[in-house]
Order: sequence, then structure tokens, then C-alpha cells
Amino acid sequence: MKNTCCVPHCESKRRNFKLHCFPKTEIGLKWVEKINCEKLKQLSAEELHKFFVCHKHFEARFVTGSWRLRHFAYPTLFTADEINTGIPALEMENYGNLLIFLLGMPSLMLYF
Ligand SMILES: [Zn+2]
Repeated sequence: MKNTCCVPHCESKRRNFKLHCFPKTEIGLKWVEKINCEKLKQLSAEELHKFFVCHKHFEARFVTGSWRLRHFAYPTLFTADEINTGIPALEMENYGNLLIFLLGMPSLMLYF
């Protein structure tokens, strides 16, 4: 797994992408949780530290000017859509649900 991104279906290699190694701190668990890969879940922090996640899985808010990650950064962008827009689908979903909720209000009132 050396020099490649460990996110399933991601083919990024060090040659063309900036790779970030797993942090040894607790935030590393968040990375595993977000990537949601069974194989990674079984590894210790020490073993995880040998794995990498490429830069495109991180939102702009987690990145500093010089391609570095902020200490609280964790990967949230996994699908092609998420990577292209830079917005995690979960947040889009929340926004969509809010819209549905607001749009649904008048029709709900008809029932009362
Ligand atoms: Zn990747």
C-alpha cells in the first residue's frame, strides 16, 4: 500500500498526487471511520501510520495554503461528485432535507 491512496477505488499514487499519512493521534480513528474500510479498522495506530490518503479527499476548510492539513482535518470527499464539488454528500443531503421540509410545510398544513 506504500505510495498509494488507501481509499477504496481511489487510484492516486505519490507520483501525481500529494499523499497524507494517517495521523497517530485520535483523529486517525476519524479517518478510518470516514473511509469506512474494514481492513483499516483492524489496524493499530502504528500500522495505520504507514497508510496514505490523497489530498483530494480533504475539503478546503481542512487545508492550509501550502498543501498541508490542519491538525483536526479528516477526509470527507470520496465519490467523484464530492471530489468535484468539494462538498461532502452528507452535507448536501442535510441541505436537501431542509428544503424538502420547508417545501413540505404548506401541504402539511392542509391536513390540519
Ligand atoms: Zn485518494
